Amino acid sequence: MKRPAKYVFITGGVLSSLGKGITTASLGALFKFNYLKVTAVKLDPYLNVDAGTMNPFQHGEVFVTDDGAETDLDLGHYERFMGVRLGAKNNVTAGKIYESVITRERRGDYLGATVQTVPHVIEEIKSRITALEDGLDIILVEVGGTVGDIESQPFLEAIRQMALQRRGDTVFLHLTLVPFLGTVEELKTKPSQHSVQELRRIGIQPDLIVARSSIRISDAAREKIALFSNVDPACVISLPDVRTIYEVPLLLRAEGVDKILLQRLGLRKPAGQAGASLVERWERLARTLTSAKDTVEIAVVGKYIKLHDAYKSVVESLHHAAAANGRKLELKWIDSEKLREATLRESFAGVSGILVPGGFGERGIEGKVLAAAYARLKKIPYFGICLGLQIAVIEFARNVLGLDGAGSTEFTARSRHPVIDLMEAQKAKKKLGGTMRLGAFTCNLKSDSLARRVYGRPRIVERHRHRYEVHSGYVQKLEKAGLSASGLDQATGLVEIVEIKDHPFFMGVQFHPEFLSTPLSPHPVFKAFVAAAISMKPSA
Ligand code: GLN
Repeated sequence: MKRPAKYVFITGGVLSSLGKGITTASLGALFKFNYLKVTAVKLDPYLNVDAGTMNPFQHGEVFVTDDGAETDLDLGHYERFMGVRLGAKNNVTAGKIYESVITRERRGDYLGATVQTVPHVIEEIKSRITALEDGLDIILVEVGGTVGDIESQPFLEAIRQMALQRRGDTVFLHLTLVPFLGTVEELKTKPSQHSVQELRRIGIQPDLIVARSSIRISDAAREKIALFSNVDPACVISLPDVRTIYEVPLLLRAEGVDKILLQRLGLRKPAGQAGASLVERWERLARTLTSAKDTVEIAVVGKYIKLHDAYKSVVESLHHAAAANGRKLELKWIDSEKLREATLRESFAGVSGILVPGGFGERGIEGKVLAAAYARLKKIPYFGICLGLQIAVIEFARNVLGLDGAGSTEFTARSRHPVIDLMEAQKAKKKLGGTMRLGAFTCNLKSDSLARRVYGRPRIVERHRHRYEVHSGYVQKLEKAGLSASGLDQATGLVEIVEIKDHPFFMGVQFHPEFLSTPLSPHPVFKAFVAAAISMKPSA
């Protein structure tokens, strides 16, 4: 029999982008500080079955899990803050729910019943949530969207029912905005009143209100919110803007949130744990992130730079790596579509490392090739991720091997030198629609390589999300000329890592190491890349 878990349901009011994902992740960290077993699930009200098809310009990064699920970027926050590994089941979309209800209806599973939102869709949502119970103390359930949206109603109804069926084992936390109006120098609680009213109208009484505001909320505002929300003033939590998201768990802890939740849920910190060490490590991290004196400047060259969320995990991993090196990160966003040979020097002035992240499609490719060439020739540390590896290979093939027009068949179907191409097995699959290499794969590292030194072990497992590969027909030539393939996929022998020996740091990886970096356990390649950048003189 599975042990029943306790639940914290997290909803949001007034408007989106208040930091519900970070708050949920931070609650997870708080439970971890108390040595409790916790996981989280994101309920997304959109009808996409998963985030794989969504445009990063609109929706931010697609976060990939070990099992190859393409999920909402909030799962990245959960993993980073909670130090857990999640999977497909931790992101439930309305698309997934309706897909399975309709499949069952077509199969005749409902035995002639009229299939309806209540009860069938609601039951499906509840069963997806409770399916997560597996020796856990707590499950955090974040409801995407804002209370009052049409789309999120079935999800809210599902958690309302769960609370009824599991009295005493659930807590509702509502995140809301308390704007500070400069003209009257006042915190305004009206929008929060309305969103709490809306929540209560559908039968949910929040237990805690987290008030997001630019400043700490006053006692008067706290009292007022408590009164109209029908909660204890101690359960109105002030969450002002912070310098780094990693301060949020510490802030919530200082407000006593962990004590309140443990008490409400009848949970206790397990006996015999040292206690402070995780919190101390977290405090040290937050201190370095906010007050390290020295900085390191890294350029990220991409095409989605207008929406920084598109590179969320890459940026977080750089922060982790900078902190691990005792530095504060300074990011320079470089739009690859605007890069020109003549402006390279100016664009990279002051920069100590160049990172080319993943991407799809042709736009901005030539700018990235220029950036890789600049890094290689000027001996500036270069880190290419996924597309960034492919770019490094294209650049090397063109400029060192002299293969004119070398490219990827993703961009030019009839490239004269398709150094990046679909492999035979994928070409067959392409006709069937599923061509992406997704999720965790094992890679063997060659001895005496930078990769082997950086990882400190011969075999690694990393997450993937790509379609194209380094063409095996060119590997020997590339290696001979100095771009060595230092990591190969264990099962297929496909190239996973390339590097240049005669360079301070030049590495491309076909996988996405950014999905495995956490603040307390920064990814070794990011750490080594930033360390190499630090030991450089910034480019003039
Ligand atoms: N577009 C490239 C491919 O499909 C790279 C993908 C990526 O960077 N995630 O192989």
